Amino acid sequence: MDHDVLMPPEDNGASGSVGPGSQSALRRDNVRRVVTALSAQGPSTQAQITRTTGLSAGTVASIVRDLEAAGRVRLTPTTSSGRRALDIHLVDTGRVAVGLDIGRRHVRCVVATPGHEVVAEELRALPLGHDAVTGIAAAQEAMHAALASAGRELGQVLGAGVGIPGPFDPNTGRIGSGAILPEWVGLDITPRMQAALQVPVIVQNDANLGALAHQAWGRTSLGDDFVFVKIGTGIGTGLVIDGRLHAGHTGLAGEIGHTIVVEQGLVCRCGNRGCLETVASTSSMLRALAATPHPPQNTDELVTAALDGDAVTRRVVEDAGLSVGKVLGQLASIINPETILLGGPLSDLGDLLLEPVVRGLHRHTVPDIARSTTVQVSLLRDRAEALGAAVSVLTSADPSEVYGPMTGALETTV
Ligand SMILES: [Zn+2]
Repeated sequence: MDHDVLMPPEDNGASGSVGPGSQSALRRDNVRRVVTALSAQGPSTQAQITRTTGLSAGTVASIVRDLEAAGRVRLTPTTSSGRRALDIHLVDTGRVAVGLDIGRRHVRCVVATPGHEVVAEELRALPLGHDAVTGIAAAQEAMHAALASAGRELGQVLGAGVGIPGPFDPNTGRIGSGAILPEWVGLDITPRMQAALQVPVIVQNDANLGALAHQAWGRTSLGDDFVFVKIGTGIGTGLVIDGRLHAGHTGLAGEIGHTIVVEQGLVCRCGNRGCLETVASTSSMLRALAATPHPPQNTDELVTAALDGDAVTRRVVEDAGLSVGKVLGQLASIINPETILLGGPLSDLGDLLLEPVVRGLHRHTVPDIARSTTVQVSLLRDRAEALGAAVSVLTSADPSEVYGPMTGALETTV
C-alpha cells in the first residue's frame, strides 16, 4: 500500500520536519488520533472519523485498513445519511473503563470496553446526607462487584471516571460550595478516590458527563451544539459547543440551577434568593407537595403519582417545567443549540415534563431560535452520568495502553 502518498500537508501537525523518521512519527500520531476518536465517540463511520480528526479521507481509510488487518477494529454495515456505510468498532482487548456516578442517595457504576460495550452495571443506595467516607466506600464496593460480574481484573481497568453532583473546579481539584453533597464541599476528592479505587481517577461535574455520554451514545441526531440538562436535587447543564464540551474558566459553565427566576424568592443553598433550584429541583417539588394529603416521599413516588394522573403532582411538575424552560430559553438565545436533552430522574415523565419545558422555552426566546431548537427527553435517562464518566476515561486513555504499542504493521507501513 502506498501510504507515503496518503500524508497530505494539512495532516502534518509537525510541518517543517522531513525524512523517513518524521513520516513514521506522523503516521503513528495519525493512528493515535483515529483510535482516540473511536474511544471517545464510539463506533463511527469513516466519514465521522474524518470530520472529528481533521485527517483526510484517504488517510483515515488507509489507517482503518491497517487497524482491521492488525485485528484492532472490526467493521459492521450501517447506513449514514441514507447511504450504505461501515461502522468501525474497536475490538475488546480486555481493557475497560469504569464510570461512577455519585448522587445524593445512590452510586451507579458501569464498566465499558473501548468499543463502548457496557459489560457490567451496578447500583447501590446511599443514605441521605452521607459523608465522603461512606460514598467512596460504596463506590469502591460497586466497582469491584461490577468488575467481578464482567469477569475483569483490577489490572485491566484503564481508569475510573467519577461524576459529582455539583461544581467541581479542575484547577483546584476541589468540590465547590453549592454542591448537592454539602458534606463533600472543599474535599480534594481525586487523591482520595484514587487511593480507594487503586486506579487513575478523573473527576467531573455530573451534568458535563451526561453531555459526554450523549456525544458517545446518542451522536446521530444531536448536532455539534447541544445542551444536556440534568434536573434532580440540583439543576445543571453540560454544554457542547462546536462539538466540544465547554466547561468554562473554572469548570462552572452551565450552572443554570443558580440563575435567578424569582426576585426576593426563597433563599437558596448557594446564598442567593429565588434561584431556579428553589422552584424546579426535585427537592423543591417534594417540598411543594408536602402539604397535600398523601405527599410523595421521594422522586420515584413523585414520578409515579404524576404518571398515575395525580392532578396536584402534575401541576407542580408543570410549574417546574415552565421555569426550567424559561431559563433554557435565555440560554438558547445565547448559545443557539440544535438540541436540548432533558435528563435525570424525572426522565420517565416523558411528555409531562417535556411539554411545559418547551412552552417555557418558546415564551422566553426569539421565535427563530425556538423553532430551530429540538427538545427531547434523554434516552440514556439516569444512566447518562455514569456512562459519560466511562467515556471521560476512554477519551483520555493512551491508545497504546488499550492496544499495546502502536508498532508492527501500524508503524512500519508508512
Ligand atoms: Zn442558588
